[in-house]
Amino acid sequence: MEEKTILIIEDEPTINRIISKYFLKEGYTVLSALDGLKGLDLFHNNQVDLVCLDIMLPKVNGWEVSKSIRETSNTPIILMSALSEEEDILRGFSLKVDDYITKPFKPSVLMAKIKSIFKRIDIERQYNAIEGTFDIDGINFELATFEKSDALKELLTHDELTGVCNRRYLDFYIENLIQQSKDFNLDFGLLFVDIDYFKNVNDTYGHGVGDVVLKELSEIILHSIRNNDLIGRWGGEEFLVVIQVEEIKHLRIIAEKLRSIVSEYSFDKDNNNIHVTISIGGTMCVQGESRESLIKRADDYMYNSKNTGRDKLTIK
Ligand code: GH3
Ligand code: MG
Ligand code: MG
Ligand code: MG
Repeated sequence: MEEKTILIIEDEPTINRIISKYFLKEGYTVLSALDGLKGLDLFHNNQVDLVCLDIMLPKVNGWEVSKSIRETSNTPIILMSALSEEEDILRGFSLKVDDYITKPFKPSVLMAKIKSIFKRIDIERQYNAIEGTFDIDGINFELATFEKSDALKELLTHDELTGVCNRRYLDFYIENLIQQSKDFNLDFGLLFVDIDYFKNVNDTYGHGVGDVVLKELSEIILHSIRNNDLIGRWGGEEFLVVIQVEEIKHLRIIAEKLRSIVSEYSFDKDNNNIHVTISIGGTMCVQGESRESLIKRADDYMYNSKNTGRDKLTIK
């Protein structure tokens, strides 16, 4: 395994020391800073693979540090927060951190999160480097001839209309995440999102406007989730959102955020102000279950949200 470098930015010397030691023992290279300024300095002057970031820090706080990192880099960030209340979690989401952990925590739990992030990056890399031939809609592609063509990668993994992941990639990703959750004992949840009365949008404004709504709605959701989470188009006006959370109450907070953002959004097309709502079904992946059973449960809960009035969540 190539050697990876983790940067710890934590002003509590004891915590900083304990996790540094733990990471060293696990074979990682460790850089550590006791304030935000020094942390940013180390980040910009070293090849850093992941940042563990405290929020309450002297000089420059964790929110500012992550904002500054995100201006130039997608390096994974895990927030280490003393609070895990709604506001903090949502703020972390808007700053595009990859994950968070609540203090006090065991170094082994933090380590598991880090390994999961590195694993995800590896999987993405492997997927991007797939070789051989591929059959897409009856056309045979020899991947080598494309020399890792970005256009082809896009075609294989993304939905043409909306630009988010396609069903093929969702299946691949969820399957891998189930394996990871076994290996690292990590949890994740799934949201099944379906637009309410979408047929009416097409009937009223035309199919072209419907397409624009689908595209914008995907973007809204994409910008409301973290780097380590995933949205894909499952089909038609249905989306899956895969979210790495430990507790179902956090899944509910995120689902409610998505529901309310969409319901308040005005899709502005050809001087029409179009409003749509979504119904969501959400559930946590249970150890040992299959991808099919997980998706089916989320789908069933989504139908419950439809049947109880739409613009609703069913999270169980
Ligand atoms: P419900 O609240 O029960 O979900 O009602 P609905 O109208 O959203 O559901 P229904 O399954 O009856 O219709 C789905 C609609 O989504 C019909 C179909 O034309 C539309 N749709 C599916 N894919 C696309 C697409 O790519 N573009 C456009 N514009 N519309 C699409
Ligand atoms: Mg602190
Ligand atoms: Mg549907
Ligand atoms: Mg629908």
